[in-house]
Amino acid sequence: RTVYLNGDYLPEDEAKVSVFDRGFLMADGVYEVTSVLGGKLIDFDGHLVRLRRSLSELDMQEPAAMGDLLEIHRELVARNEIDEGLIYLQVTRGNPGDRDFHYPPEGTAPTLVVFTQAKPGLAASPLAQRGARVISVPDMRWGRRDIKTVQLLYPSMAKMMAQKAGADDAWLVQDGLVTEGTSNNAYIVKDGRIITRALSNDILHGITRAAVLRFAREAQMEIEERSFTLDEAKDADEAFFTSASGFVTPVVEIDGCKLSGGTPGAVATRLREIYIDESLKRAT
Ligand code: PLP
Repeated sequence: RTVYLNGDYLPEDEAKVSVFDRGFLMADGVYEVTSVLGGKLIDFDGHLVRLRRSLSELDMQEPAAMGDLLEIHRELVARNEIDEGLIYLQVTRGNPGDRDFHYPPEGTAPTLVVFTQAKPGLAASPLAQRGARVISVPDMRWGRRDIKTVQLLYPSMAKMMAQKAGADDAWLVQDGLVTEGTSNNAYIVKDGRIITRALSNDILHGITRAAVLRFAREAQMEIEERSFTLDEAKDADEAFFTSASGFVTPVVEIDGCKLSGGTPGAVATRLREIYIDESLKRAT
């Protein structure tokens, strides 16, 4: 696989980053994941806007290649012959030459890494067909989840807890309210209304969330942007989650409680179809 590192396209085993890189020592970095369908990028502009915001919230310098990111994504899709898959982009605060809590002096170049992950069958996902089982775990992450940082240890721990419990993912709960999934935004459907937590520092502002809510409004579906409790979720007619890598994925079980008869719900299934259709029309 060919990867991109700081201006160069390299075979993956030749792409090397310093041991002093702030991403490695301090998890001082941000990332984006863009999906590819039919060799085209889904919602690239949305990811670029959020990347700019993450960098700015952390006073991190934009990489010199900021204006070339679309071209870099397209080049990697072409070189690695990606039809369905993901493109991972990461910017870290770079290599100050030593370990220090203070940010490095201005002019220290950020490290920019971009690589592809081929995922044949991304759109026809078996998980989406069967519906996901989730467990709830306490949300113990930091207070700026709106910034897409690479400090993903707690979400990883939560995924492992889910795996050990025989589930597909974990929903994170704070003060009895669901914040989001380990790597996705969470929704329930009750009496035909789609309910999802409002945007704040408590959750990532999902690019898929924004698109799905727009398409749902266009399809005259009713939406409530508000927090919901774990009990409300277990009692809902349906549940689902959204992310760039999973599009819209129905949830059929929460902490062992079956929803929509243990099969993907009609609203989630319809939203998945609409999301994939509409996104493909707009893909770049
Ligand atoms: N919430 C969290 C914590 C995430 O990590 C992600 C994606 O990785 C999402 C939500 C979904 O965001 P997006 O739709 O932009 O992929």
